[in-house]
Amino acid sequence: IRSPRRLLVTGGAGFIGANFVHYWRDRYPEDRVIVLDALTYAGNRGNLAQLEGQDHFKFVEGNICDRTLIDNLLSSENIDTIAHFAAESHVDRSILKPGAFIETNIVGTFTLLEAFRHHWNQNNLGEEALFLHVSTDEVYGSLAPEDPAFTETTPYSPNSPYSASKAGSDHLARAYYHTYGVPTIITNCSNNYGSYQFPEKLIPLMCINILLGKPLPVYGDGQNIRDWLYVSDHCSALDIVIHQGTRGETYNIGGNNEVKNIELVTQLCQLMDELAPELPIHPAKELITFVQDRPGHDRRYAIDATKIKTELGWTPSVTVNQGLRLTVEWYLNHRSWWEPLLSAEYQAYYRRLYGNS
Ligand code: NAD
Repeated sequence: IRSPRRLLVTGGAGFIGANFVHYWRDRYPEDRVIVLDALTYAGNRGNLAQLEGQDHFKFVEGNICDRTLIDNLLSSENIDTIAHFAAESHVDRSILKPGAFIETNIVGTFTLLEAFRHHWNQNNLGEEALFLHVSTDEVYGSLAPEDPAFTETTPYSPNSPYSASKAGSDHLARAYYHTYGVPTIITNCSNNYGSYQFPEKLIPLMCINILLGKPLPVYGDGQNIRDWLYVSDHCSALDIVIHQGTRGETYNIGGNNEVKNIELVTQLCQLMDELAPELPIHPAKELITFVQDRPGHDRRYAIDATKIKTELGWTPSVTVNQGLRLTVEWYLNHRSWWEPLLSAEYQAYYRRLYGNS
């Protein structure tokens, strides 16, 4: 019989964090879930609105760099599991303003690890205790077309301030296991997509621009390759890792879905043509506009997820075709979710990146 867990979910008001919290509440309603989120531009408390007021759920607005707050939460809630999603997560923003990435991703992760180390030392948390550090495949750098996919032993080679800051935090999580015995696990996942993803990211950006009849900015020659995973499959992988993962290990997570950016954008255009025939510009692919490449743009990412599949029995269940359709439908049906996010601040950021296109 499974005894209830007491989770602290950092970044639970963001894209993957919110999907994870909904996933977890559906499957394990007896677990206590405390969400800690600073509600930066990327955090949206409304993503968790249905859960507010429910038993075993609490939202706390606060920063992962605030050690006093974290110490109090860990002890007052007797937390045994940290699922750490909170991060500055957007590569383009890390190029424009790297400071916040160092602060949140490195100093924030260090602060959480230190607090958890003391909490874990002082309390008998048991075998189940875990600090799950949710990370990205971008720490491994860029692949050439003929290279094999990233495995857990691929050397780190981050190329952007975002991936460098995540790499730094991964190394800290690893060191806390090897130095102090703190039960940490690192997961490195490929690109996620699905509901609640902030408009700046590739797939929502394209869906929204198609709906608004705006140009679809595609970096460089559009031949960059990303390996896409539907967000619920990421959540199911984290579920298995939390319950069965070996402490001190790293697990790569990916769906083996490599797609060139231009092909992805073209597929989104076709889906929009089909699902929203009253579009301002039809066919939507007429909006595709190639723009100057992102500095240090990684050419290709690909994840080899053999370890989590063979050792823990995880398999993804949503194909790219299914997931893209679900995602396009979600953005079509949730205009009231994304419209307020296109704020003046967002427009200023957008112009800085793509000019007036
Ligand atoms: P997101 O930007 O949508 O959400 C991040 C959340 O963290 C937001 O709710 C934000 O308010 C919160 N946050 C930021 N700084 C904080 C701070 N200092 N204190 C407390 N909360 C803070 O990001 P996401 O796409 O959901 O990514 C979540 C995690 O998964 C990140 O660690 C990211 O590196 C990792 N990841 C993302 C992807 C992807 O494709 N999106 C893939 C692999 C791994």
